Amino acid sequence: MEDKKRVVVTGSNKGIGYAIVERIAKEHPSYEIVMAVRTVSNGEEALKKLAGSIPDIDKRVKVEELDVSNFDSIHKFVSKIGPIDILINNAGIAAKGDNFDAKIVQDTFQTNFYGTIELSEKMIQNINTNGKIITVGSSAGKLEKIKDDKLKASFEDPKITRSQIFDLAKLYYDSVVDDTFEKKGFPKQGYAMSKLCINTYTRVLGQQKEVLDKNIQVYVFCPGWCRTDMAGDKAPKSAEDGADTCAYLVDLPWEINNDFQGKFFYERQVKPL
Ligand code: NAP
Repeated sequence: MEDKKRVVVTGSNKGIGYAIVERIAKEHPSYEIVMAVRTVSNGEEALKKLAGSIPDIDKRVKVEELDVSNFDSIHKFVSKIGPIDILINNAGIAAKGDNFDAKIVQDTFQTNFYGTIELSEKMIQNINTNGKIITVGSSAGKLEKIKDDKLKASFEDPKITRSQIFDLAKLYYDSVVDDTFEKKGFPKQGYAMSKLCINTYTRVLGQQKEVLDKNIQVYVFCPGWCRTDMAGDKAPKSAEDGADTCAYLVDLPWEINNDFQGKFFYERQVKPL
């Protein structure tokens, strides 16, 4: 019989987050899963849907309120959730089409970058020794999006610090506000930049003292282009396909592998950013 584990999946009422919950619930009957959702009624609807295919689901899967864009909501969640083994940062937003302005960049970063980091760092105290933090990043956030060599080198720097990544995120926002972002080598894509920043941050989080002291594994992965409300119905993969690399990371042995720690994964493999 497998050990009991407790897993939190953010933004799991639909899309890839829902598929991650379904996959873990099917493959690990002894795991308890918390669907952390911003609208509880949507989480409860999702739970009803899961009950159609998985017996006893309401005993193993719970719904809790969490708005990743809101620090008060994050702190409330952290103080009530208790110990867990795996945090899966799936919640994310993307502007539709080519919509782009400073407000969109700010909102996108608030969920995909600042909120995701706040939740990860505050949850470290709740994550049991040998636990995992798995973040859904994106191949949209690759270094090729940066057109200035010096700027690209800042993101690539193996010694980059947390505060330097925050400075780069602010530099991007400020350059959107004063319309110098293209001159600086940034893309006209707030979503891609938020994912480049969170992909890069994961490398730093994986080496943080508090994380290493508790032997916590840290990963970011791209699910691929999947048919969800975010990505539309033309994508080649299903949301279930998108959950596959996450399931692989969930199943990795409960100890840090230095070749994997803080790395970016795609289709179950470490890939360069
Ligand atoms: P989706 O169908 O739009 O689902 C996004 C989920 O995140 C929803 O449950 C949404 O909740 C939740 N969410 C958004 N903002 C939130 C917040 N502030 N607090 C809590 N939950 C929040 O999109 P998806 O395609 O499944 O995306 C899941 C993750 O995969 C995202 O991080 C996305 O960037 C990443 N990704 C997706 C693709 C793709 O092709 N689909 C590719 C690469 C990466 P509501 O229902 O309340 O809005």
